[in-house]
Amino acid sequence: MSAPLVAVDGRRVTRKYSERADVVIVGSGPAGAVVGRALTSKGLRVVIVEEGHEARPSDFVASGMRAMASLYRDMGTSIAFGTASMPYLQGRAVGGTSVVNGAICWRFPREVFAEWTKADAALADAISYESIAEAEERIERRLNVHPTEERVSRAKNLLLGRGAEALGVAHRPIRRNVDGCVGEGRCLQGCPHGHKLSMDRTFLPDAVAEGLRVLSGMRVDQILYARGRANGVSGVSSGGARFEIHARHAVVLAASAIQTPVLLLQSGLKHGPVGDGLAAHPGVAITGRFAEPVRNWRGATQGHEVTGHRHEGIKLEALGFDLSILASRIPGVGAEFARRLSELDHYAAWGAAMRASARGTVRKGIWGGRPIVRYSLTPDDVRRARRAVRVLGDTMLAAGALEVYPGVSGFDTVVRDRAQMAHLEAEGPLVASDYAMSMTHLFGTARMGSDPARSVVRPDFRHHRMDRLYVADSSVFPTNLGVNPQIAIMALADLCAERVGIG
Ligand SMILES: Cc1cc2nc3c(=O)[nH]c(=O)nc-3n(C[C@H](O)[C@H](O)[C@H](O)COP(=O)(O)OP(=O)(O)OC[C@H]3O[C@@H](n4cnc5c(N)ncnc54)[C@H](O)[C@@H]3O)c2cc1C
Ligand code: SF4
Repeated sequence: MSAPLVAVDGRRVTRKYSERADVVIVGSGPAGAVVGRALTSKGLRVVIVEEGHEARPSDFVASGMRAMASLYRDMGTSIAFGTASMPYLQGRAVGGTSVVNGAICWRFPREVFAEWTKADAALADAISYESIAEAEERIERRLNVHPTEERVSRAKNLLLGRGAEALGVAHRPIRRNVDGCVGEGRCLQGCPHGHKLSMDRTFLPDAVAEGLRVLSGMRVDQILYARGRANGVSGVSSGGARFEIHARHAVVLAASAIQTPVLLLQSGLKHGPVGDGLAAHPGVAITGRFAEPVRNWRGATQGHEVTGHRHEGIKLEALGFDLSILASRIPGVGAEFARRLSELDHYAAWGAAMRASARGTVRKGIWGGRPIVRYSLTPDDVRRARRAVRVLGDTMLAAGALEVYPGVSGFDTVVRDRAQMAHLEAEGPLVASDYAMSMTHLFGTARMGSDPARSVVRPDFRHHRMDRLYVADSSVFPTNLGVNPQIAIMALADLCAERVGIG
């Protein structure tokens, strides 16, 4: 029988608790799980401390609202404030956001690595693109990454391909980390069959089998250190007790690009641009009605993508969530709305992720409350959002949609031809708040670099000022990627694990 995934459930920790380890890692998402696996396999005693709880496939529900309540941070209501405040989504569970993500896998784009090393040559000395690619190779093998098969794509994904094909724009089935996917379309609520190979089904159990200890329901609020060396973490359990985990060799932060800078700031480690430089891929989405049934809830959650606009910082993806979200995107009131609603099975929803140029900030919350996140799109980003809605509309109409709903305030609610979409791009609003957006990919708040004034960690992932403290998550990325980041995050975390000093 395999070992239980969780060694200590914080809900049962009601008295002061402490434990000793060689290395303590904060966070069990893609970054933390990969570091945990790599260090455990070296024979180290490794503890991962995770705020969320273990979630099993049998616990997962189809309802988006209920999934948000149990598996997402702040029940999915985290907001970045700015000229157009927008939600940002993060998972909170054993396995981190991988439990609720879309399973889309992309390799680290070479051109982005070239940008990084051009801006700071020391990065090229410390990390080679080939070493990233090798790590990705290993990770993708474990995660069974492969293109979505046609049998599980279904109409919503195939129509996106049809639209792109008609326009002569490059597109392809999405590569995903799944095994035996039956196209249930519930990745973002947690796969009820366990077919998505999230961290709780791969790297974490692999490492637990070799001795990793996962402590769930335990929220870290302080990094412990003395004489310039990190030596542990402390926090509070879900059961309300204080805990301390002492680490002989290293503390590794893998709590995400929002929570990692908060932990640094809360612990008095204010050096460098910590919490500055938040980069993201804000997304816009549109809905459309087709003559034939689409059944947007059927088929791989996100099984097809259009890559032909990547040079513009735009990538289109089929979307899937529960029906209430789809219904909320349908315009009209009264009888008109009821008529449209009765045809819900004829609607598709597609989204576009943008490589935005905006940079935001993350600050610790007041009295340990929610972090304060600020992020405002630049004028170029708003233009890109307008362009993204236009290409989404064009693609949907080219795929045969009878009408599309751009969802842009101050513009036509219903669009039936491509001339109208062209009009949106030419004359549509350039006010950020007119576009409904959200963010799921976050980077850059404890960035890596050689200059301690302009970066938080060194090119070897070690904090510039605090020895034995490492950051392994996408906080260290100097920029966003323009593609879905989980594989790149895992690859860099793997390189981080190689550099964690023992001794
Ligand atoms: C809805 C959604 C869909 C997505 N789809 C995709 C996709 O298809 N493909 C893709 O590549 N990317 C996708 N992403 C993004 C991707 O999942 C994330 O970039 C990735 O999971 C980040 O990994 P991480 O380890 O840095 O952080 P996370 O996965 O967020 O893990 C961090 C963990 O740390 C824990 N933690 C935080 N603070 C503390 C603390 N103080 N104490 C203890 N524990 C703490 C959190 O609870 C969390 O479990 C998606 C994101 C979302 C929200
Ligand atoms: S599409 Fe459905 S079956 Fe496939 S991995 Fe996602 S939730 Fe599981």
